[in-house]
Amino acid sequence: MKKCKKCPSKSVLTDDEIAKMVDEIKGMRGIRLVDEPEYGRRLKICEGCEKLEDGATCMLCGCVMQVRAYLADGKCPYPKGGRW
Ligand code: SF4
Repeated sequence: MKKCKKCPSKSVLTDDEIAKMVDEIKGMRGIRLVDEPEYGRRLKICEGCEKLEDGATCMLCGCVMQVRAYLADGKCPYPKGGRW
């Protein structure tokens, strides 16, 4: 079993849980989000990345990609400058 470097145990989020987290981020004031084309571009890169676990968790930072990719200030932690 692979473990997230930030979490004590492996946990897999359901699609509903991820959707709820995304909705919460979109509803927060003061959080700058990227537009839909940029969001889709980022997710597509993550989907092809070997560091993505269970379709949602980046094993380098422990973030839920569907949330992090929405953040205008979010950066990919991949070594040497990130992938997005
Ligand atoms: S944020 Fe970067 S390192 Fe993490 S899964 Fe996406 S592309 Fe890979």
